[in-house]
Amino acid sequence: MTKKRAALYARFSSDLQKDRSIDDQLALCRAHAIRKDFDVVTSFVDRAKSGASMNNRDGLWEMMSAAKRGDFDVIVMESLDRLSRDQADLPALHKRLVFSNVAIETVNEGEASHIHVGLRSMVGSMFLRDLADKCRRGATGRVREGKFPGARVYGYRCIPGKPGEREIDPEQAAIVVRIFREYAAGKSPRIIAADLSREGIISPSGTAVWSNQCLTGGRLRQGMIGNRLYIGEIRWNRTRIHRDPDTELEVRRATPAADHMLVPVPQLRIVPQKLWDAANAVRSQRAIQKFGPTGKVTRTTSAPARKEHLLAGLLRCGECSGNMRIYVTSATKGTRVACAGAKDRSTCEHTKTYHLETLERGILECMRTRLAEPELLKEALKAFHAEWVKQRKHCLTEHATLKRRLGDIEASTVRFVSALERGTMPEELIITRLQALETERTGVAERMRLLDADTTVVDLHPTAMTAYCASMDKLHAALEANRHDAEAMQAFRTLIDSIVVHKTEDRAPYQFTPYHRMQALIGADLFPASRSVPEIIRENGGTVRFASAKPANPDLAEANPDHRGQICTFGRYRMAA
Ligand SMILES: [Zn+2]
Repeated sequence: MTKKRAALYARFSSDLQKDRSIDDQLALCRAHAIRKDFDVVTSFVDRAKSGASMNNRDGLWEMMSAAKRGDFDVIVMESLDRLSRDQADLPALHKRLVFSNVAIETVNEGEASHIHVGLRSMVGSMFLRDLADKCRRGATGRVREGKFPGARVYGYRCIPGKPGEREIDPEQAAIVVRIFREYAAGKSPRIIAADLSREGIISPSGTAVWSNQCLTGGRLRQGMIGNRLYIGEIRWNRTRIHRDPDTELEVRRATPAADHMLVPVPQLRIVPQKLWDAANAVRSQRAIQKFGPTGKVTRTTSAPARKEHLLAGLLRCGECSGNMRIYVTSATKGTRVACAGAKDRSTCEHTKTYHLETLERGILECMRTRLAEPELLKEALKAFHAEWVKQRKHCLTEHATLKRRLGDIEASTVRFVSALERGTMPEELIITRLQALETERTGVAERMRLLDADTTVVDLHPTAMTAYCASMDKLHAALEANRHDAEAMQAFRTLIDSIVVHKTEDRAPYQFTPYHRMQALIGADLFPASRSVPEIIRENGGTVRFASAKPANPDLAEANPDHRGQICTFGRYRMAA
């Protein structure tokens, strides 16, 4: 029998000093591998990386891809928490390793089974919470004794031989008072900071450059002007750091007032009360001028955020009708989108990625060459009608098939839900199946909705057509000038319901089908664009025969009595090579 090929994995964490060093961990693992008669072929390490996060762990990712390539049969580590301490990540890593036929061997507990992994991940995340609480409790105890829980504050220095205690640094204290004076006198933080930098005074961060942020910065951080230590008070626990489970980035949030702590340390006062009050009066006055009566930063945006692209949320996969999302953004390749089902869940075969910029260009080209001129629009409608006659039968058959499939999906869903209630199947398995069914159901429902448009004949009245083309021309011009113009983006979204990207050969020109909102089509003026159909009829004296949309499929018409609120299409658009 050939020996099993083993890889060693070690992680040294910055959370805990009690962790063994990388070398110690590797030595332990190697000894274990020899006992087990493994052939050690390689090793992977992550230095000073926290087990709470999966990001920035190069060693882990190298190890996972080597496992996928089949470079080794077993991975040896000190214990499972070396892989991850997060309840969600550990089983995911385990699943991937099992899939690559790699066993996990731990020095402490031997080979790791599913049950092991489940238990460990729970214990691991309990441990992390516990550790965070311990750190907080330790710091809170120090605060009670008038010691410093956090980083050094500008204006103070450490006392040799007395850890955690501070005394006033006379040189820096003079600068602090100067900053308060100038600020209270109405000088702007930007100018104060620029002056200090020019005079070569070292900033709190130890560099030669002062920033206005350090004087007044942040909504939750008070900046120097708001730091109550300068009037001899330690305030602790005002904010807490949380880890966002999606991005794994740390975010600072305010804590409830009841959790705040205040300890007087009069010996550390640098700023006289009067000066402090004057400076902070200026500060709140400025906040009110800037952010309104409450002085708090409020965000009011109904328009799409600037970083959102023109087609965000509108792209559908031509194969499964699921959403497409940004797949990769790189300096050389630009931003590329792909079917989320294909990239995230392997529920779709459509793995090709599309250059977002090219798609945007294609959409604008389609608007100009098809929709902006009444003559061109007439041509497009004629072509779509011809296509429709050919495709109609096929569409109806597809619709019937989808309807049956939807019925099956719903029946299966009911079966799994009742199995869950009876407890006859493993919960984990049922949840996976339910998620898969739900993904498929959304895709089928979306395809039926789009099919509904494929089988709808649009007939625009000439007056409406002219008005529509004029708006389209205006919208096209606005988007050509600035693709991120908020008003034009809004108008675009009022017009376009979705854009199906069809699967094409590699390097072939893109093909897509835009689906239009009928209400926008017949409402003509896109820029105000918020009138409802009855409003449009009323405003037009009820005499204008604007559009008629005949449902081609009576089955669909029954389901959607108000067909005019629906979507329609002028067919597939093929970009030039
Ligand atoms: Zn897809």
